[in-house]
Amino acid sequence: MYFAYQINHTGKYDYDLVVIGGGSGGLACSKEAAQLGQRVAVLDFVEPSAKGTRWGLGGTCVNVGCIPKKLMHQAALLGTAVKDAKKYGWQIPGPVSHDWATMAGAVQNHVRSLNWGHRVQLQDKKVKYLNLKGSLADEHTVKGLSKAGKETVLTAKNIVIATGGRPKYPTNIPGAMEHGFTSDDIFWLKKSPGKTSEPAAAHVALECAGFLTGIGLDTTVMVRSIALRGFDQQMAGLVTDYMEAYGTRFAWKSVPKKVEKLPSGALQVTWVDGQTGSEARDTYDSVLWAVGRAPETKALGLDRLNVQLNNATGKIVVGADESTSVPNIFAFGDISEGRPELTPTAIKAGKLLARRLAGQSTELMNYDNVPTTVFTPLEYGCVGLSEEEAERRHGKDGIEVFHAFYKPLEFTVAERDASQCYIKVICERGADQKILGLHFTGPNAGEVTQGFSMGLQCGATYSHLLQTVGIHPTCAEEVVKVGITKRSGLDAAVTGC
Ligand code: FAD
Ligand code: NDP
Repeated sequence: MYFAYQINHTGKYDYDLVVIGGGSGGLACSKEAAQLGQRVAVLDFVEPSAKGTRWGLGGTCVNVGCIPKKLMHQAALLGTAVKDAKKYGWQIPGPVSHDWATMAGAVQNHVRSLNWGHRVQLQDKKVKYLNLKGSLADEHTVKGLSKAGKETVLTAKNIVIATGGRPKYPTNIPGAMEHGFTSDDIFWLKKSPGKTSEPAAAHVALECAGFLTGIGLDTTVMVRSIALRGFDQQMAGLVTDYMEAYGTRFAWKSVPKKVEKLPSGALQVTWVDGQTGSEARDTYDSVLWAVGRAPETKALGLDRLNVQLNNATGKIVVGADESTSVPNIFAFGDISEGRPELTPTAIKAGKLLARRLAGQSTELMNYDNVPTTVFTPLEYGCVGLSEEEAERRHGKDGIEVFHAFYKPLEFTVAERDASQCYIKVICERGADQKILGLHFTGPNAGEVTQGFSMGLQCGATYSHLLQTVGIHPTCAEEVVKVGITKRSGLDAAVTGC
């Protein structure tokens, strides 16, 4: 809810609000605060990646995350669509091939246009943008350092830290950093990465492996434990089964050991096969590390002010109102402990924080039932609890799982295998059968899940789902028809209309 425009000039400080970090969260927070009449400055500074990749304003999502990732995912989906197209009557002369430079160039141009758009928006909304690396001098003072080493001092009533994170390299694997790169580089490569090894199996790794395979590159994912840790493991299995069926190689239970450059220029990756205990090796053109992300706290001078960090993760400990252990200093987004690492949560949390700091609202961010989608070749969308987490909280007999294997209509003519297209709705057992979690693999999973997430936010029950009328013929309509319980052991395959 927006309140009346109210100016909060304290006069004592240069600004009402200084935001450090111009990513998804920092930009949203600073623009919202300025719109509410606050005097706002935002500092954004990008340290080049270890490989020297650099980019503009907008943070991870715009430059090295969601946006270039989704566009490259789209490139891969189009490759599949071209194959399907022949079955639908399109005459495609000769074999189709993919050109990395064309795709990357177009994606990079789009990203640059977004960088520019963000600058213009800040200007329009009267937010002072400073391309400076920020650190805290005291609870009301930020020091900004330019690329050339010039220091600027800014004082503010409130300071917000939204500096996000950066990809990590493994520290115990010789050659990892020297010969590999990360998601900070992949979207900005001028030429194709070629045959790629990805020693990791979570969100970033699987999405990148998916689009690399989809554009025709030989790609191997190395899984040291499980795929998609934190996600429903039945669904993770469907995602990786589909990827394997469509050409991504998986080295299961394999731990990377070293990376060496051979005289030929090829990269030799050695790993230990956890099942046999023996060493294995193969050669690649590229090694992409997606072994997790580290919070960007080092340069902030947090220790000077005793801003409390979580010892295990290095993230900033925050309260429900995004407050840190130091009054007037707030943190949110990827930098803060226990929050989802997602753009929409950072944006929403930033806007709400701006409204509270401007004295316009007391509304807190609700981090429950945040929907998300893994943009793998078979997309996986979910909201609410995994089956494992629902069982942990409610007991195996306290939940009812309704499920269905379905065949997207568009797969039929294309003669595509739909074995992994699946829906699972996890409900409380008995009484109202409140929906605890909803999981969907299939085309446009993000679009499907977004709609149902509102239902979960409103406390939807299984009977609400059954009262919902489907849109025919869609994949999403299968969600409102799930009727078979796992407990029954009946065949969950949907047949016919
Ligand atoms: P960021 O966007 O990381 O912004 C932080 C900014 O602060 C950066 O510009 C940084 O350079 C700057 N900074 C750091 N230190 C300083 C300093 N001292 N002074 C000044 N500036 C500083 N999320 C989704 O919701 N959907 C997706 O599909 C999705 N895909 C992703 C794909 C990849 C490959 C990755 C890596 C992430 C993806 N994410 C996705 C996650 C999403 O990008 C992040 O959760 C989101 O960007 C976090 O926003 P933030 O504002 O907290 O930080
Ligand atoms: P995660 O921390 O989620 O996963 C790290 C992965 O690296 C795990 O598979 C882990 O294995 C593996 N790993 C770690 N160290 C090693 C090692 N030494 N050798 C081999 N494997 C290793 O990181 P991500 O970078 O994938 O994702 C970060 C966040 O970004 C996610 O939480 C997500 O919120 C966000 N994101 C969102 C997207 C979206 O919304 N579509 C897309 C991409 C990212 P193990 O499980 O065994 O520890």
